[in-house]
Amino acid sequence: MTDGDIKSNPVALVSGGSRGIGKAICIALAQAGYNIAYCYRTAGDAALETQRQCEQFGVQVSATQCDVSDGSACNDWLKLTTARFGKIDVLVNSAGINRDVGLVSMSPNDWSEVININLNGVFNLSRAAIFHFIKNRAGTIVNISSVSGVYGNATQTNYSAAKAGIIGFSKALAKEVAGYGIRVNVVAPGFIETDMTAALSEKAAAAMLLRIPLKRFGRSEEVASMVRFLASEHAAYVTGQVFQVDGGITI
Ligand code: NAP
Repeated sequence: MTDGDIKSNPVALVSGGSRGIGKAICIALAQAGYNIAYCYRTAGDAALETQRQCEQFGVQVSATQCDVSDGSACNDWLKLTTARFGKIDVLVNSAGINRDVGLVSMSPNDWSEVININLNGVFNLSRAAIFHFIKNRAGTIVNISSVSGVYGNATQTNYSAAKAGIIGFSKALAKEVAGYGIRVNVVAPGFIETDMTAALSEKAAAAMLLRIPLKRFGRSEEVASMVRFLASEHAAYVTGQVFQVDGGITI
């Protein structure tokens, strides 16, 4: 592949690309020929591992420290990316955290941190990208919600509220921008093996497993496959939808 070819690749912007599901999304999109710009919150060598793995597919990769809850940092990251790659074709909002605790013990900080990162982060990056997409009359957004946002989960009132908010946000935005040729969809994973779920006790994990018809936890790559499909032309007639990747836990 020549440098000219690489520059004409589609470009994907992925938040929370340093670990877990976001990392798998970067790798799947790199494999599909996208140049990748991803962000992370915690600096360090581990944050750059995604870049190393994506570059093996011969694409260009840019890794940036950007806290998605900071609107002006998100705007700066968008500007940096369009300056380097000339455009953005796909935005994937995957950055997220959980602070699970019953409501009686939930501190205002547990509430606001989860809303600021999981929901306001989606607003910050989508708003920055949508100007660019409307100007180009093209673009697609894939937001990572959770089955917790569709059905609710005890001890996750903060997280369920944020993830349900992402679904409402995405449906409204899908209607708002469809006329510009822009699509917006949601992926709602079930229990996926990442650092986020590693903290679950053995007892809680075993109880969860009993509820999953496919009898195993999901892998980040399985969520990434759905994102790759939704980002592609194969999903050109799909917008405003929520796709659960959950082993059947919600049936
Ligand atoms: P993870 O392994 O904990 O990774 C979280 C990623 O988000 C990391 O790259 C992290 O960056 C980044 N991040 C966190 N806060 C950020 C911030 N303020 N600004 C920028 N980046 C930030 O989590 P995961 O399991 O892959 O989850 C990814 C997404 O899937 C989340 O939205 C989560 O809610 C959703 N989800 C996960 C599951 C599951 O079972 N794992 C199920 C449903 C939905 P650092 O490395 O710098 O911290």
